[in-house]
Amino acid sequence: MPKLKVALYWAASCGGCEIATLAIGERILQLAEAADIVFWPVAIDAKYKDVEEMEDGSIDACLFNGAVRNSENEHMARLLRQKSKILIAYGSCAYEGCIPGLANFFNARAILECAFLETASTDNGGKTLPQPKFNVPEGELDLPVLYDTVKTLAQVVDVDYSVPGCPPEESATWMALEALISGKLPPRGAVIAPPATAVCNDCPRIKNEKKVRAFHRTYEIVPDPDKCLLEQGLLCCGVGTRGGCGALCPRAGMPCTGCYGPVEGVRDQGSHLLSAWASIIDSNDPDEIKNILDGIVDPAGSAYRYSLPASMINRARVKP
Ligand code: SF4
Ligand code: SF4
Repeated sequence: MPKLKVALYWAASCGGCEIATLAIGERILQLAEAADIVFWPVAIDAKYKDVEEMEDGSIDACLFNGAVRNSENEHMARLLRQKSKILIAYGSCAYEGCIPGLANFFNARAILECAFLETASTDNGGKTLPQPKFNVPEGELDLPVLYDTVKTLAQVVDVDYSVPGCPPEESATWMALEALISGKLPPRGAVIAPPATAVCNDCPRIKNEKKVRAFHRTYEIVPDPDKCLLEQGLLCCGVGTRGGCGALCPRAGMPCTGCYGPVEGVRDQGSHLLSAWASIIDSNDPDEIKNILDGIVDPAGSAYRYSLPASMINRARVKP
């Protein structure tokens, strides 16, 4: 049987998903037996022109990680879609927008000005901002154009499967690779991850009725090691987040931040979380409720940390 041709690509991401692929450990030998990697810029020397010269559909599967936030990311998303039979949004950035997607609370101009003009450590007397095109004696240099709105991979091209996680746990990575190798793929459009109940179902912490009279940031309290963190006022996203990670964070004493995305059937993880948190406030008094809510320092960033581009609100309205 001919070997599969697999590509991996890194768009707007931190690189964690690239490393996460190696978490499959010795099963990488099974992958090497079944597949050749034809494009993986972080690990092998292949150029964009090598992909452009491939036949359309000649890559059996591409694991695309990272969101689409500039013209280069979009070019590669379209090119790899054209060249790949199966395109997988691998990891939260490609699947939902993730941390790069928090840029959707601003626009490109504001981000460039913050990074190149306003930060305390910046010394930019000429107030120079990156330009997409610049002429030098040797010719024209160009940079990718930074978009105002970060997009998920599926908002740019058709996606066949998604693998959640920031980064995906090895269980989800191997589920996807094993399905590819065996040819036993789930129905197109599926999110490939272990069973899709909420993180709370995998969390061993003791759960009681959730009633909260104050929210805290993680550094403000030392939580009880056994009890549900949300019941102690820590903003845990486990109630509205797809399981499959084994509840890694609450097991280690940290609230779940929501990286596995919405539970099956939920369209908008952020509004689901906001609704869940609001429902456990133990007061009927509007002033007291307001005080309790003031304890949530960054409601939008907490509820939409991984999913703003994929959400119904998608981005903030800002002046052009
Ligand atoms: S700590 Fe978080 S994940 Fe665990 S039961 Fe409470 S809300 Fe759910
Ligand atoms: S507990 Fe939440 S934040 Fe932590 S790995 Fe699981 S889904 Fe991601």
